[in-house]
This record gives sequence, C-alpha cells and structure tokens, in this order.
Amino acid sequence: MEKLLNELSSECQSAYGVECDVAIDAQVPENLKRGIPLGLPSITENDLLRHFTNLSKKNYALSTVFYPLGSCTMKYNPLINERIAKNDAFNNVHPYQPIETMQGTLEVMYELEKDLCEITGMDTFSLQQAAGAHGEFAGLLVIAKYFKSIRQKRKKIIVPDSAHGTNPASAAFAGFEIVPLKSELDDGSVSHDKLKEVLTSEVAALMLTVPNTLGIFEKNIVKISKLIHDNGSLLYYDGANFNAVMGIVRPGDMGFDVMHINLHKTFSTPHGGGGPGSGPIGVKSFLEPFLPVPRVEKKKDKYVLNYKKLKSIGKLKAFFGNFPVILRAYAYVKALGGKGLKNVSKQAVLNANYMLAKFKDKINVPAGNRCMHEFVLSPKPLFKNDIRTIDIAKRLLDYGYYAPTIYFPLIVDEAIMIEPTETESKETLDKFVNVVNKIILEESCQELQKLKDAPINTPVRRLNEVEAARKPILKWK
Ligand SMILES: *Cc1c(COP(=O)(O)O)cnc(C)c1O
Repeated sequence: MEKLLNELSSECQSAYGVECDVAIDAQVPENLKRGIPLGLPSITENDLLRHFTNLSKKNYALSTVFYPLGSCTMKYNPLINERIAKNDAFNNVHPYQPIETMQGTLEVMYELEKDLCEITGMDTFSLQQAAGAHGEFAGLLVIAKYFKSIRQKRKKIIVPDSAHGTNPASAAFAGFEIVPLKSELDDGSVSHDKLKEVLTSEVAALMLTVPNTLGIFEKNIVKISKLIHDNGSLLYYDGANFNAVMGIVRPGDMGFDVMHINLHKTFSTPHGGGGPGSGPIGVKSFLEPFLPVPRVEKKKDKYVLNYKKLKSIGKLKAFFGNFPVILRAYAYVKALGGKGLKNVSKQAVLNANYMLAKFKDKINVPAGNRCMHEFVLSPKPLFKNDIRTIDIAKRLLDYGYYAPTIYFPLIVDEAIMIEPTETESKETLDKFVNVVNKIILEESCQELQKLKDAPINTPVRRLNEVEAARKPILKWK
C-alpha cells in the first residue's frame, strides 16, 4: 500500500517554499489566530511529486485501459474538446456580468439547443440539468405541472423492469406512484397486452429506456405510443444512451413527448467518476412553458436569459447548468456534423454486435442474436462450484481491464453488461473477448481458488464493497 502524505511527513524535511515579503501575520487580529499548528505534512518536493505520480499510475482510466462498463458509455472523447472547454474566453465568464458581455456563451447554449432538437426531433430543449437522473426528474416535474395545468389528477408513472434504475427513483422523487411493468422475457421489450392491463386514467406517463437495459431497441414503439396517447397519457424517452440511435431514428418522430439525453456519455464528456454531467431535456412545444428557467432566448440579434416564465417548474441548477460540458458537446456536434454523428452510432452498434457474435456460441445471451450499442451475458449455467459473476469481474482486473457492469439489469441472473463504444479498435475488442472467454470457460473450471482470490495483482485486494460504500474512512486517524 502506498503511504499517505501524513505518514511520509517528517519535521526535518520540506519542499521548496516561497518567502512572503508582506507581514500578513501582523495584520491578523490576535483573537483570529490559530492556537495550534495546522498539521500539514512536511515532505520533500521530490517525494511529493513521486507520491502523486505513483498514485495516478494506479488509476483505471480510459487513457490507459479498455473500459467496457455497460450503460456508461466510457469512450474516448476528443482531447481537442477538452482544450476548447478550458478556453479562458468561456472559463472567465462570471454569471453576474452584464448579459451583453457574455453573448458567445449564450450563443453556444442557444445553438446547442437547436442542434439537439434536430438530432432528436423534439421542439425545444433545456440544458439546465446536471445529470441524466436530474433530467428525468425535471422531465417528470414538467409532466406533473402539465397535468395540473389541465386539471387532471394523474399520479402514476409506468416503468418497465427493463428501464434504467434511475427511472423509478426519479418518478418517486417527483411525487409519482410507480407502476412496474414486467417485460417480455426474451428481449426486455414492452408487451402491448400487459401495458393495456395497467393503463388507467390515473397514468401520467410511460417511461421507456431506448435501447432498453438489455441493449435492445423497443420494437413496438409506434403501437405503444398510440396506446399511451389514446389514454391521454404522455410518453417519456430515456435517451441517456443516444450513441445507439443518433442520426438513425428520432424520439420526436416516434411520438415521445419528453426526453433526456446525457451529454456526458454520448457527447464528448466522460461519464463515471462522479464528475460534472449534463442531462438536457427535450419536449414537444405544448410542454415548453413548463421547462426550467432561465431560458436562453434570442431577441433581435441579442441573446438574453429569461427568468420570467409563469408556468415554469422553476430553477433546478444555478445559472447556465454545467457549461463546460455543454461547450464540449457543442464542439463535438459541430465537428462531426449530421453524417459524423450517424457514423458514431453505426460504429457503436457494429462494435457491440461484433463482440456479441464472438460470445454467443459460448456464453448464454438472454436477449437474442442482435443488440444495439451494448449487450448482456448471462454466464450462470457455466458456473460450477460457487463461482459467480463478481469473481469474473474481479479477475478481469488482474488482466488490466476495468470490469464491465455486473448484476445489472436486475432481470438477468448473474448479468455481465458490456458496452464497447464506437471508439475501440477491433484488436482491443478481440483481446478483451479472448480474456473473458478464458476466464469464464477455462479458469472458472480449473482455477477456482484464483478466481475466488481475485484480484491478485492490484494494489488492494477484494474489498468489502458494502462497507466501503456505507462506511468510508475518509480521514487520517
Ligand atoms: C446513465 C443512465 C442514466 C442516468 O444518468 P446519470 O447522469 O448517471 O444520472 C439514466 N438512464 C440510462 C439509460 C443511463 O444509461
């Protein structure tokens, strides 16, 4: 284990220091002065540099390893967009400076909203939300406010079991009651008949994750859309995984009323690691009055921020949302253009199907022969003794890979969910498939102890994940 800086510290060493020639000490009133020393570690500059460099080498990162984390779209994002997001002209904008002096910032937002409308077929977008789940929450508040405005009591949201887990959570948070819907077993798609059974006059909306969490495109969308709208309900599209369908189909054309996308996933910001995100929501025009404020508007040649929207659900995030994420998305969309975005999706789907084809004769695939941008394996029948999916995932760390998503979706026993993304080469995919096959088909039969002990080569071994999440120890001593 790497020592902490505090453990490396010793009074007789220090890093290079800069003398301050202003007598700050004298200006601080006695009663505000610290009584005890600050207790910062004392360490040489060289050791400090090595400490952080060595720690950084222990990271799993896209810049070092393949990261097949299903549902998360851990893809390579062009570094040029990082440069653009760091541009001082945008970075130094203060939210309270006069509006005339931040026209470029507002133009980026205005233009991206328009581009997202074109990409999705929705009528208007709000870029305020800070994540996918935050977008869902906003979209559901919009739906709630809409029904309130037309004086209809609709308290229920239908969520299929093949939806992303954030869907029911967001609906509950927005004050709705969840009606779970069991999907067709073979591919997680929604059954028209089962949907009919739960569709009452109290249903506000159906939330569909497309592609669903098994990586399958919802085949009955047009029929479902008619059924929902004939009932006076609305249709919500979880478009977090938009790199599966971009440039090929548009939720707006399929009849969806509200949707969100994740700029951090599809549009050039990495997902995961808890960094900033952005979950814009798109709506059809009849829902526009309810969108969060502020709205970016163009009056003559000038961009303005409009906070005065009487029917709006209000403010969900300070000022412009997570602007650097918006800026990266803007740069990405403009650089690729319509054709480029379509190619992204084609490549993402091709890569996933290539891998699926290499697995499917050997390992059980619960959801059919084809997939969109990701797929789910269910290796359970191959497991002897007490080997489980978690052992496979831990063993992959020994081979230098980040583990895929496991035990999700919940509807598949011992699930392994793999998303290669559009940015990986055939060589990378081949290598990974070989390692997974080796672990599941050979090691899980012959080297049981190794699998149970895995990871063996990592800085820390198998952690108690529940304890680590529930009782993290975040301070020294
Ligand atoms: C990632 C994801 C979400 C949630 O997005 P966050 O930004 O993590 O809140 C919702 N739905 C689907 C389908 C996703 O893949």
